[in-house]
Amino acid sequence: MRALSISAHGGIEQLKYTLDAPEPQLTAADDVRVNIHAAALNHLDLFVVAGVPGVTLSPGAPLGADGAGIVDAVGSAVTGLKAGDRVLLNPGVSCRNCEFCREGDHPLCVRYAILGEHRPGTLAEQIVVPAVNVRPIPTGASFEEAAAFPLATLTAWRMLMSRAQLKSGETVLIWGIGGGVALAAFQIAKRLGARVFVTSGSDEKLARAKALGADEVFNHHTQDVASEVRALTGKRGVDVVVDNVGAKTWERSLRALAKRGRVVTCGGTSGPLVESDVRRMFWNQLTLMGSTMGNDREFDAMMAAFADGLRPVVDSVFGLADGRSAFQRLASGEQFGKIVVRVQA
Ligand SMILES: [Zn+2]
Repeated sequence: MRALSISAHGGIEQLKYTLDAPEPQLTAADDVRVNIHAAALNHLDLFVVAGVPGVTLSPGAPLGADGAGIVDAVGSAVTGLKAGDRVLLNPGVSCRNCEFCREGDHPLCVRYAILGEHRPGTLAEQIVVPAVNVRPIPTGASFEEAAAFPLATLTAWRMLMSRAQLKSGETVLIWGIGGGVALAAFQIAKRLGARVFVTSGSDEKLARAKALGADEVFNHHTQDVASEVRALTGKRGVDVVVDNVGAKTWERSLRALAKRGRVVTCGGTSGPLVESDVRRMFWNQLTLMGSTMGNDREFDAMMAAFADGLRPVVDSVFGLADGRSAFQRLASGEQFGKIVVRVQA
């Protein structure tokens, strides 16, 4: 089958488009094989190409965490799914048996595996996943939208709804609008009735965010975001900050927070090591929280929002043979929304 993979770590030049990747087989009774129609990229994919500490490369295994397509075959124990169903994938595969899985907190699973990182991914014509990782695509949504939806939206959903517990009427600051998680967080916060401030280094992206309903926008290259936030909130600050940038933004995130504020992170694209002023933390009684991916309950809540009309912002669509261009677009940081790879013509 056709697939996009790497055989060695490095830059985007390591990406190989192959025509003869092995077709995956059903191995467990609860497996499902899906013919992928569209996949979508995440920043994670760039980390996988570069090499993630502790994760061993499977040479030639397809990359890609997000995908959507049509069920091709199901194992003997699978119920409620059949060949021909239009589905999307939950990119996180959990053991369903460890202490965290038994509590329903699947992203903490001790054997947690992400498609395209710890097991074969979605940038291929076919994939095999447990049936529990498959959900029907709501009527009216395209394969491109369905592929662009899960990882970023699930991540943002857990961050805002479960971890930070953002409430209607609260104010949230989101760094780096244009990235998948930032845009999903923006949409979820607006849908909830929160006041949403966003930043970007690009005035063009800020104009687009404004058109989508952002309440205030800041250029983090030319403006002191924390001071602007305090000025706009009567010196109070925001209730929640979504910070996936890390080293470059963390100090400003803490300065932008109100008393009892929460900062939630799912990554640090500018670097992982940050400094937190404990005086600011204890005096303002701040909460710093980490988050990654989401559990089944959050996935289903997010799917209900998808069925209700929530749609990811799609930046661009590439063909699988042109996958390297899709990765270049991702690495450029110029995108506004998800980069989709069309696998079936
Ligand atoms: Zn587990």
